[in-house]
Amino acid sequence: MELAMMSRCVARKASSKVSSVRHYSIVHDVPRVAASLSQNPPPAPTPGRSVFDQAVNASIPRNTWTKEEITEIHQRPLMELAFAAGTVHRRFHKPSAVQLCTLMNIKTGGCTEDCSYCAQSSRYKTNLQATKLSTVDSVIEAAKVAKANGSNRFCMGAAWRDMRGRTRGMKNIVEMVKGVRALGMEACVTLGMLDKQQARELKEAGLTAYNHNVDTSREHYPNVITTRSYDERLQTLENVREAGIHVCSGGILGLGETPATDHVGLIYTLATLPEHPESFPVNKLVPIKGTPMFGQDAVKLEDMVRCIATARLVMPKTIIRIAAGRVSMPESEQMLCFMAGANAIFTGEKMLTTDCNGWEQDKDMFERWGLTPMQTEASKLVEVPEEPKFESTSFAHFKEKDNGAEKGVEA
Ligand code: SF4
Repeated sequence: MELAMMSRCVARKASSKVSSVRHYSIVHDVPRVAASLSQNPPPAPTPGRSVFDQAVNASIPRNTWTKEEITEIHQRPLMELAFAAGTVHRRFHKPSAVQLCTLMNIKTGGCTEDCSYCAQSSRYKTNLQATKLSTVDSVIEAAKVAKANGSNRFCMGAAWRDMRGRTRGMKNIVEMVKGVRALGMEACVTLGMLDKQQARELKEAGLTAYNHNVDTSREHYPNVITTRSYDERLQTLENVREAGIHVCSGGILGLGETPATDHVGLIYTLATLPEHPESFPVNKLVPIKGTPMFGQDAVKLEDMVRCIATARLVMPKTIIRIAAGRVSMPESEQMLCFMAGANAIFTGEKMLTTDCNGWEQDKDMFERWGLTPMQTEASKLVEVPEEPKFESTSFAHFKEKDNGAEKGVEA
């Protein structure tokens, strides 16, 4: 009841926002159906076995999920769900390995979009000082510090709607990507919407991954953002994928959504893409005074764990990142998330404009719990390895891979 009222309240806020919806666009809406586009369709479900049991025993990922199936998994008793997710996690990933990533804001504020949670939108009074694009040298210096502190992925975020007309900016970002890759780190950028040509340019620079979150379910999305559509987001993901760059896409919990339907909807969107995202960040809303989302109820731990565990069962190979908002989670809560399938964090001084758990704090936590920084294939190579395909046919195939030289991204 309370959540339903909250949703209506958010919807009213959203509808009273900017009346001119989307003056311009660089990508076109392409209605999509949730369907398997994999060339290697998953094996037929075993008759008589529940969806949950099939997910727990899966040996390969599949992208033919229905919302009903994901709901069935999401609604399992939480202890059972978390334990099952941990079991699947151990089958597909090294359980103690957690990837350390550092996210630097390379251009702050002044964004034209109306994302109702964001301090960087020029539509809200958040006292954030807008800046120009950082210099290439300063970014590379920051990446070196991140690497020295154990991060193997360096992410760079610019508060832009899209890359249209940003020739000079793109040139500098290409240099930043090359510089980060030359350090032997994975490079990820988030620059707003991207067209096919821009994606190819970034791929040529050696970009490992592109972050573009869908934020929430398709149904709840209009209550959060009105200046670009859900399908425009998916089009950018398609452009990135086509260019051969890994996709990093996830959501933000705590936007006034209903977890039982909207967290399922968020996972459904990404789990039914032709390939699962290589990375699924789970953000916990950091309420920023001055934004429409300020004042939302804090995300409950059980909703966070349920979302992570469901994503782990439905997208078993994907790296699941605890992203924004981790700073508000006690260590015990973070551990529950790791046990339920999360295997990456953002660490460093800042995460975009919000506070982040510091290097030392995370090093101590890793030590206490026997966690180790994940080393990935992509961080060792300037060439980004091909995204893992849904080509395995049995669990034995994974065991072979684990025992041999041919390690997956989680090696
Ligand atoms: S989330 Fe990104 S696109 Fe949206 S307002 Fe903030 S910086 Fe702009």
